[in-house]
Amino acid sequence: MRKKTQLIHGGIFGDKETGAVSTPIYQVSTYKQEAPGQHSGYEYSRTGNPTRFALEELIKDIEGGTRGFAFGSGMAAITSTMMLFNSGDHVVFTDDVYGGTYRVMTSVMNRLGIDSTFVDTSDLSQIEPAIQDNTKAIFIETPTNPLLKVTDIQAVSDLAKQHNLLVIVDNTFTTPYFQNPLKHGADVVLHSATKYLGGHSDVVAGLVVVNDEQLGEDLHYVQNSSGAILGPHDSWLLMRGIKTLGIRMEEHEQNTKEVIQFLQNHPTVKKVFYPGLEDHPGHEIAKKQSSGFGAMVSFDVGSAEKAEEVLKKVRYFTLAESLGAVESLISVPAKMTHASIPRDRRLELGISDGLIRVSVGIEDIEDLIEDLQQALG
Ligand SMILES: *Cc1c(COP(=O)(O)O)cnc(C)c1O
Repeated sequence: MRKKTQLIHGGIFGDKETGAVSTPIYQVSTYKQEAPGQHSGYEYSRTGNPTRFALEELIKDIEGGTRGFAFGSGMAAITSTMMLFNSGDHVVFTDDVYGGTYRVMTSVMNRLGIDSTFVDTSDLSQIEPAIQDNTKAIFIETPTNPLLKVTDIQAVSDLAKQHNLLVIVDNTFTTPYFQNPLKHGADVVLHSATKYLGGHSDVVAGLVVVNDEQLGEDLHYVQNSSGAILGPHDSWLLMRGIKTLGIRMEEHEQNTKEVIQFLQNHPTVKKVFYPGLEDHPGHEIAKKQSSGFGAMVSFDVGSAEKAEEVLKKVRYFTLAESLGAVESLISVPAKMTHASIPRDRRLELGISDGLIRVSVGIEDIEDLIEDLQQALG
């Protein structure tokens, strides 16, 4: 099955009972048993629900793993994955991971005795020195927000094997349509499905896929114990979103190419950050491990004042957090997602005051370019 077909025919197609071509929403909490313990595979919807299971089978197939899991948010997926570890364990992280990942590790999981170290994983030589006797995993995000730094998944997996560590990849930005980390040696891939997989800014969800039976059993145990599950209606919405992931990603990327061409030729724009650009430090690795570069772009307009002016003037780029949906979104990391980082540290990381991040949507490209044109002046 090819990629776009799999998005539609992967997992469990339709409903056997009725022939319905879309999986029904099983809005149910419990299931009739013929005798105590004798049931049709479902007992209670925290443990398993047919709509959620259809979604879990779908993401499992798309990422090429052995078992999939649907959670109530990307953060619930990440937190539950961390619950595979024990007090006294340690995990190495990409230093510019999603802010919520940093927060849960440094203000929640640390209280439970699961420690973390943050290093620039796009520079392989920084990883090994961070590995301790109690290290159990390397958690990478690639590419990252907002500078789109790229980490070599295969190289990290090779290193991890030498040390008996799991490799966990946050694949939210590139999506399984363009990048499948399990094929590059990772053990766990996870998503904020709130973004491209849902794709319509109407559902908050998280997905995890593993490629090992025992790891799957362990994660199901955590999911059933902690209860961070996705409800049946949101599971259905997510399956509906995933069916069009392919055409959306193609369109997102096509629009992004044209937005970048425009930005690069605009005198106000000092620099454009996008892994698809040959001068981007992660370009070669991105080209090797993904079949597309996505639709997240950052560019520097020189000052906070200019950035603010652009934000005020745009009509089709909506000022909002989040990313990955049909509508174009715009934000200023220094004032929004990265506001809690001290300015000096931010500048050290390359996140200037005039840096603007856009999530390019799938509106008509002529409208998007005209909009940027009038906003940039
Ligand atoms: C949004 C996001 C998350 C968190 O997901 P939620 O669905 O908001 O809980 C995790 N990782 C990345 C890369 C994200 O963009």
